[in-house]
Amino acid sequence: MEITITKTTTPKTMPPEDKLGFGKVFSDHMFIMEYEHGKGWQNARIVPFGRIDLHPASTVLHYGAEIFEGLKAYRRADGGVQLFRPMENIRRMNRSAERMCLPLIDEQEALDILTTFVKMEEKWVPHSFGTSLYLRPFMFGNDESLGVHMPHHATFMIIASPSGSYYAEGINPVGIMIESEDVRAVRGGTGFAKCGGNYAASTRAGERANQKGYSQVLWLDGVERKYIEEVGAMNVMFKINGEIITPALTGSILPGITRMSCIEVLRDMGYEVSERLLSIDELTDAMKNGTLEEAWGCGTAAVVSPIGRLCYQDVEYPVNNGKIGEITQKLYDTLTGIQWGKIEDKYNWIVRL
Ligand SMILES: *Cc1c(COP(=O)(O)O)cnc(C)c1O
Repeated sequence: MEITITKTTTPKTMPPEDKLGFGKVFSDHMFIMEYEHGKGWQNARIVPFGRIDLHPASTVLHYGAEIFEGLKAYRRADGGVQLFRPMENIRRMNRSAERMCLPLIDEQEALDILTTFVKMEEKWVPHSFGTSLYLRPFMFGNDESLGVHMPHHATFMIIASPSGSYYAEGINPVGIMIESEDVRAVRGGTGFAKCGGNYAASTRAGERANQKGYSQVLWLDGVERKYIEEVGAMNVMFKINGEIITPALTGSILPGITRMSCIEVLRDMGYEVSERLLSIDELTDAMKNGTLEEAWGCGTAAVVSPIGRLCYQDVEYPVNNGKIGEITQKLYDTLTGIQWGKIEDKYNWIVRL
């Protein structure tokens, strides 16, 4: 696939690395290409970052046909830039696209696009440990008509945002509220797809949790509100009575790449990890009788995020006295070590540019 490049004539400078925050600053360029049914993907180009034009009847604005991915470009201590398991993001994007009737992208072409784009934006990969260039590939249906059917036109883009360290103030365990009213997804629905609509439906519960002083919600399954699913934008893991448990991928949970990597690292360290159904009753029992030893979320943004408090039906339970647990710390050290190129990548997860 040929990518046309138009360089900006007004390059920007990066703000100080400790002032970046998340998703607020964007790099100089963006990638964009369009799909037309029968013709495939066309007009792949990198252009100056800027606004895009949408027809008021565009499918995405009315019927929510949108999917996205999130991954990071990391600066190694030796100055090089690398990606972490990017092919897993590309494969997941195609699975999301398939669910939402959006067009697929050839895996190898998608990787070429991603690496070409990141190379072009190299100067936007910050240098301090914990910072990164957050990459946001996304795709939306873009027919210029209100008819309800599979979109015949789509747009795929990648934007990039230099982001600060998630743990600029140190790793502080978070408070999580277990949501017993709203649900995020059901089996057969779009829970396993990374689509904007899942987030739109989750916002209300997230706001309620924030108002009560919790940073995110922990979702229960959409049918019985009985089984633990995942945290807002992270998967979740528990250590109960020596057993490391993470909810099985039943179709309503987002199959996180950090989740998958945690499982592989833990098994490699000799721990057993159960991917199974975990009921809220089992979890509350463990919280009451003190057998819940550790709990943490895992996702690209935070890598791992220790959970220090869990609230269910207005009762708050402390987890590990509000401190980061031993396994959580080990996972954090191992994954960030590989991602920022500080320790050897024996798993072959890194793609260096
Ligand atoms: C992206 C995402 C995750 C984490 O996936 P990673 O690939 O580990 O970043 C978990 N849950 C939801 C709902 C997500 O959107």
